Amino acid sequence: MRKFVIGGNWKMQIVKVDEAVSVAKEIATALEEIDMNGVDVFVAPSYHALFAVGQAIKGTKLKLAGQNMYFRDQGAFTGEISADSLLDCGCEYVLLGHSERRRIFGEDNAYINQKVKKALEKGLKPVLCIGETAKEKADGQTEAVNQKQLEESLADVSPEQMKNIVIAYEPVWAINNKFLNPDTEIKTATPNEADSIHKFIRKWLIDTFGNEIGNTIPIQYGGSMKDSNCEGLLSIKDIDGGLIGGASLSAAKFKPIIEAATKLYQ
Ligand code: PEP
Repeated sequence: MRKFVIGGNWKMQIVKVDEAVSVAKEIATALEEIDMNGVDVFVAPSYHALFAVGQAIKGTKLKLAGQNMYFRDQGAFTGEISADSLLDCGCEYVLLGHSERRRIFGEDNAYINQKVKKALEKGLKPVLCIGETAKEKADGQTEAVNQKQLEESLADVSPEQMKNIVIAYEPVWAINNKFLNPDTEIKTATPNEADSIHKFIRKWLIDTFGNEIGNTIPIQYGGSMKDSNCEGLLSIKDIDGGLIGGASLSAAKFKPIIEAATKLYQ
């Protein structure tokens, strides 16, 4: 039986510690009323708020994630954060290879692979983000692009280690980000589109890591998931949760998605 994982990626949207703590507390309070039923929920605040949010949600059902990390343990690496620092703040998950990291900050698969391996070594659960751009989709490259990202970002990761990985399929054209998508209308993947690529990813995971492990790895969908479209997406057999940006920034928007996931989880 695989887990559902619902993640809130706060990006650089909440810039004050107090605000991050207060939104996290509201979400944690909302979770008290929900039977989590095999669903993990995390939020990923900015680094400066991680420790305070970690303290505020200690002992609640809400989990904490980093938005990124460096693959070295410690040292003179200005502007970076280590796995141990994320763990020190209380993180259980870490987002790696988010399309904003790939497309705006130039991270490639080989670099992401080093971080995936370091996170696993340190006991953090990587949420490996993959996904194609609008142009790659229009060129018929969707499967090839996602397969390459999986192959290279997960190089030298063992089937046993895969038990601690979550894949987030996030088509770049569906991410509510005008900076990444300046000329295209941002659309959510239709349930049919999502079904087809999630089935492809599941098959790749099974072919690569074996039937048992391949079937237990959660594959999140990400890209403009919200109250109005989450049920259709989360009902799909190979969608095991969501990575949510805009709709995770308040308990009012995030709670209905979490509720839908806990109801649909079986
Ligand atoms: C994201 O970037 O991870 C994301 C899914 O953002 P949004 O939900 O705002 O499209």
